[in-house]
Amino acid sequence: MSDTRHTKVLIIGSGPAGYTAGIYASRAMLDPILVQGIEPGGQLTTTTEVENWPGDTEVQGPDLMIRMQDHAKAMGCEVIGDIITKLDTTSRPFKATGDSGTVYTADAVILATGARAKWLGLETEEKFKGFGVSACATCDGFFYRGQEIVVIGGGNTAVEEALFLTNFASKVTLVHRRDELRAEAILIDRLMKNPKIEPLWFHELVEVTGTESPLSVEGVKVKHTKTGEITEILCKGVFVAIGHAPSNELVKDVLETHMGGYVVTKPDSTETSIPGIFAAGDLTDHKYRQAVTSAGMGCMAALEAERWLAEQGEVEGRDVSEPLGYGAVAE
Ligand SMILES: Cc1cc2nc3c(=O)[nH]c(=O)nc-3n(C[C@H](O)[C@H](O)[C@H](O)COP(=O)(O)OP(=O)(O)OC[C@H]3O[C@@H](n4cnc5c(N)ncnc54)[C@H](O)[C@@H]3O)c2cc1C
Repeated sequence: MSDTRHTKVLIIGSGPAGYTAGIYASRAMLDPILVQGIEPGGQLTTTTEVENWPGDTEVQGPDLMIRMQDHAKAMGCEVIGDIITKLDTTSRPFKATGDSGTVYTADAVILATGARAKWLGLETEEKFKGFGVSACATCDGFFYRGQEIVVIGGGNTAVEEALFLTNFASKVTLVHRRDELRAEAILIDRLMKNPKIEPLWFHELVEVTGTESPLSVEGVKVKHTKTGEITEILCKGVFVAIGHAPSNELVKDVLETHMGGYVVTKPDSTETSIPGIFAAGDLTDHKYRQAVTSAGMGCMAALEAERWLAEQGEVEGRDVSEPLGYGAVAE
């Protein structure tokens, strides 16, 4: 039997953006409901050490996300294990349908459904994810100081990641299926002039090799796309850089998107093209894609949702002339 739940603010997604929105919306007395989705805790649950979350010199990604979840719950956010399969934004209250059959009606919605790195789908890629295989140079490059690295891909992401990784690695081999890069000319120029980078044309990754205990990468096997010849390359890190895809399935037909599907928000804001629908985190961010920036946007979304609800007369006793930030949060 289907059940209907109403909330002032529905938060869709349980990554850093979603949980931070949950903390702020709870502290603003909005009694938010947060629906976690298929990956409770989001992308950081797929990695090991995180070394750039302020306040933690080193923290395991899954542990950090459990702490964020506990923090949101402690502030009063209701966290629900469900997946939103449909979002109706054509009338208010907005209506979201859960995979469980529950229908969530909401005066405002914060979309925090994040993004997914694209992967090749190899068994050994999956096996060594977080143990030498990564999709984020900004996050993990630091672990490969003085080591040899392989980057897979030939677009902007791969070229940028390869260049960034030369800050740490002794050598970066860029493995690409063709002999031509699909990236901005200036980036290609920088890449070709960088003595630490060696492109390997007409090759594709077929296997990541390494040790079992501890689980750690020792190299890759790559296949020539024309001759089929297999070559082994020794390396300690493999960065799969074949692009990112925002998880925009719920809204791609109703909200404005750009840069390959990222939801457009107003400048310096999380407001989308539909009043009352806010978007935060990697779903909107083709540029930084970090936990801390996502959390920052989650904060902004909750404060802006609270302000918007007050303007609609949905928040009692709120003076909408007050500034956002501390002025907006009930203490
Ligand atoms: C391997 C790896 C390592 C990384 N390491 C770092 C690092 O060291 N430091 C750093 O700052 N960043 C790192 N990042 C990037 C960081 O994880 C992301 O920038 C951040 O998680 C984005 O947060 P988010 O809240 O926008 O979304 P995400 O973390 O992507 O979470 C999205 C959430 O939305 C939910 N969702 C999606 N669709 C639905 C739906 N239909 N219904 C309900 N829920 C839904 C998902 O279940 C998930 O909970 C790493 C990323 C990866 C992949």
